[in-house]
Amino acid sequence: MPPAAVLVSACLLGAPVRYHGGDAQSDSDILRRWQRQRRIVAVCPEVAGGLPTPRPPAELQGGDGVQVLRGGAAVRTRAGEDVTEAFRAGAAHAVAAARGANVRVAVLKSGSPSCAVDGIYDGTFSGRRTAGAGVTAAALRAAGVQVFDETQLAEADAALKEIDGRHD
Ligand code: SF4
Repeated sequence: MPPAAVLVSACLLGAPVRYHGGDAQSDSDILRRWQRQRRIVAVCPEVAGGLPTPRPPAELQGGDGVQVLRGGAAVRTRAGEDVTEAFRAGAAHAVAAARGANVRVAVLKSGSPSCAVDGIYDGTFSGRRTAGAGVTAAALRAAGVQVFDETQLAEADAALKEIDGRHD
């Protein structure tokens, strides 16, 4: 059995796909080891959902990613453009990529309206955060993937090792 795969936000791996056109490259030995082991499935849900780079920042309004997936909340730019469908499409892409590669663990960029595991901006574009997951993090979690952010790489690595152990 090959080692379990892990889905990682593409910006944490150095891809310049963030809303401002930059990346959020992580200098993590754990990520480098996973890359050597060819475990990583890199996804940027917002690009996969059809949004350009750079793009206007967007925030969740009316709830977190769980509510967006249920149709009870929206994702909008500061100018009021509704980008909810692109965020839903990106989340669906991430779930399909995870299922296709038998991903059981994901490491996602904190603070993102797509990728945040817990802690999103509150929809007022004032820099205030509130509890809740981004749209893709919520979708992956609902699909049975264990989701972590880049501050929890050791926990994600332990979860992967446990899965590998179960498969040995
Ligand atoms: Fe990174 Fe996720 Fe934002 Fe893409 S959607 S730039 S992977 S945080």
